[in-house]
Amino acid sequence: MRAFIALPLPDALLEPVAALQDGLEDGRVVPEEDLHITLAFLGEVRGDVIADIADMLERIDAMPVPITLDGVGGFGDDLRSLHLHVQPAGELVALAGKVKRIAEMAGTTVPRRRFTPHVTLLRRTPGPVSPNLNRWIADHAHTKIGPEWADEVVLYQSDLTKSGPIYTPLAEGWLGADLPPEIWDQ
Ligand code: ATP
Ligand code: MG
Repeated sequence: MRAFIALPLPDALLEPVAALQDGLEDGRVVPEEDLHITLAFLGEVRGDVIADIADMLERIDAMPVPITLDGVGGFGDDLRSLHLHVQPAGELVALAGKVKRIAEMAGTTVPRRRFTPHVTLLRRTPGPVSPNLNRWIADHAHTKIGPEWADEVVLYQSDLTKSGPIYTPLAEGWLGADLPPEIWDQ
């Protein structure tokens, strides 16, 4: 199956991000429950390997990571997707490395690509960008939201369909699982 490991967008960021998406018309907006930051894209993975990754992810020993959304970007010359950049905080980059090692220990080869953390907001038919969308991009070039803590890492199955990808959570790991509850009240 096709799989990837990601941080679901922290709850505290869902509302501000959904509010930003309200201004987007030119394409298919990513539904709130699908908003995520990919840590490692695995591609096609065998079932037994998936089980090993799930097992390790559920026991991951790592701290929560700060997520700050910072400016706008896109993929493809003709803009097939639009995203918010995520600041590459040291903790986030280290977590991506750890997750990648988990996937490799289970027997996958994670593509050697530069880690560019982002949250995809919109997918569109590649082509000319409408004045509306151009204005939205210019207006949000300096948008900054956060930091908020991400405390959950999820292994997703991704099925590509004509009406967009369908993500199914297969396993999750808690970051900072050993922290005493009081720490969150400070
Ligand atoms: P679609 O491909 O239909 O636009 P999608 O990209 O969300 O949907 P997938 O292709 O399954 O669905 O990718 C899942 C996640 O992994 C997405 O966040 C995607 O940006 C990311 N991803 C996909 N391919 C790669 C890759 N080669 N390197 C890094 N991240 C990738
Ligand atoms: Mg894709």
